[in-house]
Amino acid sequence: MTNAHFRFENSFAGLPPAFYTRLLPTPLPAPYLVALSPSAARLIGADPATLAAPESVDLLAGNRIAELSTPVAAVYSGHQFGVWAGQLGDGRAILLGDIATDEGPMELQLKGAGMTPYSRMGDGRAVLRSSIREFLCSEAMHGLGIPTTRALSVVGSDQGVVRESIETAAVVVRMAPTFVRFGSFEHWYYNRKPEELKQLADYVIERFYPALREEENPYAALLEEVTRRTARMIAHWQAVGFMHGVMNTDNMSILGQTIDYGPFGFMEGFDAHHICNHSDDHGRYAYANQPQIGHWNCYALAQALLPLIGEVELTQEALDVYQPAFAQHIDQLLHAKLGLATVQEGDRALLDALFAILQSNHADYTIFFRRLSGLRAAGPEGDAPLRDLFIDRPAFDQWADAYRARLRAENSDDATRKLAMDQVNPKYILRNYMAQIAIEKAQNKDFSEVERLLALLARPFDEQPEHEHYAAFPPDWSTQLSVSCSS
Ligand code: AMP
Ligand code: MG
Repeated sequence: MTNAHFRFENSFAGLPPAFYTRLLPTPLPAPYLVALSPSAARLIGADPATLAAPESVDLLAGNRIAELSTPVAAVYSGHQFGVWAGQLGDGRAILLGDIATDEGPMELQLKGAGMTPYSRMGDGRAVLRSSIREFLCSEAMHGLGIPTTRALSVVGSDQGVVRESIETAAVVVRMAPTFVRFGSFEHWYYNRKPEELKQLADYVIERFYPALREEENPYAALLEEVTRRTARMIAHWQAVGFMHGVMNTDNMSILGQTIDYGPFGFMEGFDAHHICNHSDDHGRYAYANQPQIGHWNCYALAQALLPLIGEVELTQEALDVYQPAFAQHIDQLLHAKLGLATVQEGDRALLDALFAILQSNHADYTIFFRRLSGLRAAGPEGDAPLRDLFIDRPAFDQWADAYRARLRAENSDDATRKLAMDQVNPKYILRNYMAQIAIEKAQNKDFSEVERLLALLARPFDEQPEHEHYAAFPPDWSTQLSVSCSS
């Protein structure tokens, strides 16, 4: 199939006009393809080679609109850093429509495609730097098995874009079943539009949560399910050491998918208080705060859904699933990370003790868990690679002895455990310095590193001997990198 034949349907544009503005993307001058995700292409039934061909660039840039597409910019509001911010978007994203896939409908959205009526002070563009980061991280998260929006492509242009310095423009094609956010509901609630609020909720339930139609109170059931999914998503973030950086309610998907990659980061030397977003002065979105912020965001959604649910008590009950769902998922994920096949008394203490020594030694989070699968249950011979990650060796030895005793308590077999652990503890993550190198090369029109990282991170759990160096400690200069909301 050629790219021009995307069989778009326009389910979101089927909502009343209040929900969006119909408009065309602003053409991007002389666009060139920076990167394309073959697996994302295949998901929407497109041939990667066809999409990567020069004829397709105009389509991926938004310069040419497929025949069946009805482009729209959706409206939403949200809480930013805990404060009601009013209307926020879509300031630079344009929805092209949805395509039927084996996994259900997938919407395609151009991010950075020019101004919309909701652009506020913005220019409607995104820079190459942040576009590459979003592209790589979306696909890396997918590779890690974490719920996320996908990224199909990045297209660049030499058009200048003013940020702290002059950068160049880029457009990412993102994909998700829907881009409706918590803030989409808050928008109608705070604008006192109960009719639209209901239309949006009915649309989301009908299309994405059809089973909930049968519930006595489908809106309470929706809140409960979204709360559950959000808790699950954040448990995944914590387990892999992912920090989103800007968990505003407009950046929370109604599907419980990771969305809007900005100043994200992956944990390196473990520090629960790490703040990955340079613009987050008070550390609201620090690693350790993410679970409770997820809950806070569900409260904000609950507030917006309350008029539909009709009862405070039901609303509260739906929110109350957050803590147990999070606890259940994180427990399960951490047990798997430790290679524990059973749940036993004392496991909590073992985990707490581990996080305490990771914290006080700032051991590299990813490297620690990957090396942990090499530990032997019988005794400390072979501990050296792990032990070397700790300045306080006696503290490590003490923990390792306790862990070994715990492994023996379930007759854990070293080889079996290693296999299982290496399926859940990634060898390769998208460290900031890796993205930075790829970005700098791309800014000089060398896109090979973006492509290499894309392929690497599609298989984060596999040994890839030719790429061993990506599994090493980050270089010293990487500590100087800072990422902010500027994108
Ligand atoms: P973010 O923190 O990146 O999620 O952005 C918050 C909101 O600001 C989003 O809803 C965007 O629509 C909008 N926005 C961000 N950058 C721009 C831009 N350069 N031009 C227009 N709108 C923007
Ligand atoms: Mg956003």
